[in-house]
Amino acid sequence: MFKSLEGKTVIVTGASKGIGRGIALRFGQAGLNVLVVSRHIAEAQKVAAEIGANASAFAADVSKTADTIAMAAAALERYGAIDVLCANAGIFPAAKLGAMTEADFDHVIDTNLKGTFLSVSAVLPAMKEKKQGRIVITSSITGPITGFPGWSHYGASKAGQLGFMRTAAIELAPWNITVNAVMPGNIMTEGMEGVGEAYIASTAGCVPMKKLGSVFDIANAALFFASEEAGYITGQGLSIDGGQILPESPLALEEMGAA
Ligand code: NAP
Repeated sequence: MFKSLEGKTVIVTGASKGIGRGIALRFGQAGLNVLVVSRHIAEAQKVAAEIGANASAFAADVSKTADTIAMAAAALERYGAIDVLCANAGIFPAAKLGAMTEADFDHVIDTNLKGTFLSVSAVLPAMKEKKQGRIVITSSITGPITGFPGWSHYGASKAGQLGFMRTAAIELAPWNITVNAVMPGNIMTEGMEGVGEAYIASTAGCVPMKKLGSVFDIANAALFFASEEAGYITGQGLSIDGGQILPESPLALEEMGAA
């Protein structure tokens, strides 16, 4: 699948665990050189070691301009190109309105939204020079489509990523750089392992497919957006959620209960 990607180079931010780790592993399997980025180098190194000789780790905080510039420079120095950026790093601390502080709000926006802008800005010189590039942003269904108490700042950051994407896609089209977004539903990550079976079962119960997604469900979609085969697709968000956003009321799922 997607032979066009063999030998290319991808930067994956937030790749030390969760969805980013899944994306990094999947792109590594597909034969790309992978720069595994997170703030903690030891964690990123573990994922790079899992992938193999075609991967290496880099420590960067995506909310800091200098870090993202150094990240792009490292990819160029180690692999000679930046063909794909997966801007995936994100945080989701919960705080309801009234309790949410300005610092809480800024931290989420700085990491998720400004971090996307800075990561994209850092890779643009290399992509523009090659007149080719693929940018895949990890957004969410939360914000662009749904809401959840405690996540007004998170939802704003994830919806903001899609607003950013649409204009970026227009601006970068002349350079043959596409910008698309994967929008995960509830995905089974290491972070979910401690929440208990009851929580997982109740969350899965809201999904028509009655299960959470895997990190590879997201990674496969990111791989498609990165491929040559997806070269005429830009500015699009793809929900990957087992149908979670579809029921117009709980009755829709109850109707199917016996199925
Ligand atoms: P996760 O397991 O908590 O992993 C987050 C990753 O981001 C880690 O590698 C973390 O590493 C890195 N990170 C956090 N802040 C960073 C920063 N400032 N600079 C660089 N790296 C940073 O999260 P996840 O669940 O996989 O989520 C990944 C993305 O998917 C996020 O954008 C999230 O909004 C989105 N998403 C997730 C779900 C889900 O169900 N899990 C659903 C919808 C959307 P360090 O701590 O070492 O930096």
